Amino acid sequence: MYEDLKKEIIKTALMLKEYRLIALSGGNVSVRTPANHVVVTPSGMLYETMVPEDVVVVDMEGKTVEGTRKVSVDTEAILYILKNLPEVNAVIHTHQVYASAVGLVEDELPAAVTTLPNACLGPVTVAPYSSAASLEMGITTVKYINNKRAVILKNHGVITVGGTLKEALYAAVYLEDAAKTYIMAKSIGKPSILTKEQIELAVEKFKPGNYGQK
Ligand SMILES: [Zn+2]
Repeated sequence: MYEDLKKEIIKTALMLKEYRLIALSGGNVSVRTPANHVVVTPSGMLYETMVPEDVVVVDMEGKTVEGTRKVSVDTEAILYILKNLPEVNAVIHTHQVYASAVGLVEDELPAAVTTLPNACLGPVTVAPYSSAASLEMGITTVKYINNKRAVILKNHGVITVGGTLKEALYAAVYLEDAAKTYIMAKSIGKPSILTKEQIELAVEKFKPGNYGQK
């Protein structure tokens, strides 16, 4: 079941590697289906050699519906996020370097470049530390995501979400670009930050129907 979706999930994970947001078998990608199943990448497997049969289908309680692989260790957190954010259908977890670096120093990545509100819907909050493979990681994500598409997990990495997998992927990639630009700007001075109005306009311009192809 969900053969095409499993292929899309693997393709997305490979893109995360291409953009250097994950390394080796790190991070995970998951999608909720209309039948309330969650299709999630397996634990500790390299994405380059992953095949659709390796991707696991679980129910909302985490029970395996299809697949023989051990599911991602973050599945409990992912299910908590999906249960508590009904508009979210896709969750991506990365250990992306620049956004994570901001999280070690700041409480928030401010919207200094328009691509951040375009893809993440505004500035991105840094959530307090929670250990990997814990339910707490999901709880802090829900608590600190503030209706945005990303949260930085202090001393760990990033969670991005979306109504679709594409939204969650774009959030992760543009978050990293924005974090990189912000860090570079800070190294030579005080970065200029977008105003509230400029942020609202940047969100509006990139809503479905306003940006991209039909
Ligand atoms: Zn992690």
